[in-house]
Amino acid sequence: MKNYLVANWKINPQSSKECLDLISKYEIKSRHENLEIVVCPPFLYLEYLTANSGNLFEWGAQDCFWEKGGAYTGEVSPHQLKALGVKYVILGHSERRENLEETDEMVNKKVRAVLRAKMNPILCVGGGREAMDPKSDSQKIVLAQLGKNLANVQKKDFSAGQLIVSYEPPWALSTVSGNVSASPKLAAEVAFAIKHFLNSTYGKQGLDIPIIYGGSANASNVSQFIKKPNLDGFLVGGASLNPPEFKKMISLLK
Ligand code: PEP
Repeated sequence: MKNYLVANWKINPQSSKECLDLISKYEIKSRHENLEIVVCPPFLYLEYLTANSGNLFEWGAQDCFWEKGGAYTGEVSPHQLKALGVKYVILGHSERRENLEETDEMVNKKVRAVLRAKMNPILCVGGGREAMDPKSDSQKIVLAQLGKNLANVQKKDFSAGQLIVSYEPPWALSTVSGNVSASPKLAAEVAFAIKHFLNSTYGKQGLDIPIIYGGSANASNVSQFIKKPNLDGFLVGGASLNPPEFKKMISLLK
């Protein structure tokens, strides 16, 4: 299975020109057979960026709504994103679960809508407010969330590599004060539990679902994580805004 490196820019940077500058500083020269790079800028830059940058990586969005169109003020549909050339959508990020009280039911509707649009959800699990304590039971939280977020998603609804699960303990994010990255050992244990869940739910097809880790991943720690079984890449916040750091992560994972 190939590795994934997903840049989550959150509300950064502050203009479309700065976005292009950031991309160019990643110095991505070619596509890599073993590494899919996905860049997820704020919605408002996607139209400009998809039209004005090369095709050596994929674009992702940081969220979307579950309806195709209609009276839903402020929302963006998977189909609108797809029309721009966006392939991936981050869903269920802990910041949305915590700050916007996004529920498992809402995340589930979004996952199903993105799959229906034949796009690729990057489903983040790891908890919201209830998981802020590093001593909370990660496996229990993650498996309960996965069950709810994938409710009514059947084998026929996705193909190999279309659905990605990202384990993101909210206490490990670089923006959390006093944060520490999860240990590679913990990430691998949770990834194993996720794989087991996916295998029992989807049979062999579940074994082909990539599992990535997010939480203060950077050029100094990715090599330790990627050696572990069942970890297929990273969702990266802070380090993706630091081009030399992100460039190094690309070279370590390609
Ligand atoms: C994220 O917010 O998705 C994330 C992984 O952030 P960071 O890498 O900054 O911890």
